[in-house]
Amino acid sequence: MNSQLTAYITLICTSGVLNLYLCSSVFLRRHQYSNIARVFIYYMVTITIYCFASAFSLIATNLEQIKFWTIILYIGMPFSPLLGLLFIMKYLGIKTTPSRIMILFTIPVISLIMVATNDIHHLHYRVYEVDPILGAPFIHQEIGIWYVVHGIFTFSCMFVAFLLLLSRWKETAKIYRPQLTALMFGQLVPMLTAFIYLIGLTPPGVDPVPMVLWLSSLLYLWSINTSRLFTLTPIAKTTIFNSINDGVIVLDEFYRLIEFNQSCKSMFPNINTSMLGTGFEKVWLQLSGSPFPTKIERNSTFTKEIHLASDRIYQVRSSSLQHAKYEKGLLIIFTDITELKRLQVKLEQLAYYDELTQIYNRRAFFQKSEQEFAEAKKRSIPFTMILIDIDYFKKVNDTYGHHIGDQLLKHVVKACQTQLNEGELFARYGGEEFVLALKGCTAIEGEEIANKLRRYVETQPLRSDKGDIYVTLSLGVAEASEERDETLYQLLNHADKALYRAKGEGRNQVNVFNGEKGEMIKAP
Ligand code: GH3
Ligand code: MG
Ligand code: MG
Repeated sequence: MNSQLTAYITLICTSGVLNLYLCSSVFLRRHQYSNIARVFIYYMVTITIYCFASAFSLIATNLEQIKFWTIILYIGMPFSPLLGLLFIMKYLGIKTTPSRIMILFTIPVISLIMVATNDIHHLHYRVYEVDPILGAPFIHQEIGIWYVVHGIFTFSCMFVAFLLLLSRWKETAKIYRPQLTALMFGQLVPMLTAFIYLIGLTPPGVDPVPMVLWLSSLLYLWSINTSRLFTLTPIAKTTIFNSINDGVIVLDEFYRLIEFNQSCKSMFPNINTSMLGTGFEKVWLQLSGSPFPTKIERNSTFTKEIHLASDRIYQVRSSSLQHAKYEKGLLIIFTDITELKRLQVKLEQLAYYDELTQIYNRRAFFQKSEQEFAEAKKRSIPFTMILIDIDYFKKVNDTYGHHIGDQLLKHVVKACQTQLNEGELFARYGGEEFVLALKGCTAIEGEEIANKLRRYVETQPLRSDKGDIYVTLSLGVAEASEERDETLYQLLNHADKALYRAKGEGRNQVNVFNGEKGEMIKAP
């Protein structure tokens, strides 16, 4: 065997082995891949057959053996460009019907039959004989009509696949372009080689295409290993995808990260393309430092609010994807609601809290005490109300100015808070009046608390730049009576009545309502 022939066989076998490796590695991992892998496996199988049959035909010593290996070669070769095209179409998300696929497959099937029966009709090869000068395994051939049909079909498949890939160049994100390029070259290499062969630029008598198929295989291998070809979403509508303000993450059917948009990068600066193909839970841990707040399951759709260490708050929504390209993937959308939340908190603050003292305002008090009062009634537990009024407050304003008056109000609130238990409903009721609603407390217990507050405030002056300012409190206590079945407003009215008495009896004291009739406090 001459050295040229040995080089041919070595090259062809390299292609065959590489394809076989590619084919079996994808086959072994087919469960991890989307169903695009199936088409790819068929594609690789046909190329492998093509390569090995081609190698065997080169060690043939007579025409019979050459013909036999040529028929075997045709079990692979005419099918591979079509399978290559179908693989690219699947990759690009282009759908076609099974009947169209069947029609397309008739051509390679006919080619195989034509080659197998060529001796009868000579429609594929008009002449097919051992090269009279070079001898076996070199062939002298003259092509027949069907060879032309087969050739056009083969070229068209590769060319269309190439054009389809090229047409997606612009809309493909930069990170997927190497992948796209590799696939384009994978198509281009056999196409150009076949062309060069047909115009007679390669040594005669040997088909050079299987000799270069190792290059295509390497390109596919590289694509699979570096870009996770089968787990990646091929060509998304990148521009639209990236222009969305929300962060969008696409997961495949095994919840592995397959795509993320530009907004995600600003939300999660650590996200990068090396994470593609990694399980989402692991990715999330790397991005946020904590586990994802919800379990991601098949068909799971959820809406969650998450608070990140970066102090940003996101609303996270998911929706399942049912698409040819993504199979059964999942879309996770992150909306930055930090400002909205801040505004909401601010509005709540304004609506429910007193601006000066930062305790509940009158409106919040009525809302909350109604609930507490109703609950106490339902559970038949005591409920006591204490109205607190600063004595001679007007004098403070008049003597030291409104600003000091404000400071004193804050000071009294703080002083009272130190004496109260957490969760007790304490609110600013009016100008210098405060209210305390005590669920589960009797009037006697209320009186004790009231006196505690009174005694404490009395001893705690406001230390101002105009000197220490002492104030006292008058407090009215009233307990809800089960027999009278009164409303919250009647109870407040009783507490007010008691407060009025405390004022009347000299201030700086606590008075407990004991059942007289009084004027009603109007509902807010
Ligand atoms: P009494 O002992 O009878 O309760 O007398 P008082 O002066 O405390 O009561 P009065 O109702 O006569 O006056 C309350 C004053 O509180 C009138 C009002 O100008 C003042 N005031 C109400 N709200 C505020 C406030 O937010 N800041 C300041 N600095 N003063 C306020
Ligand atoms: Mg008052
Ligand atoms: Mg007062």
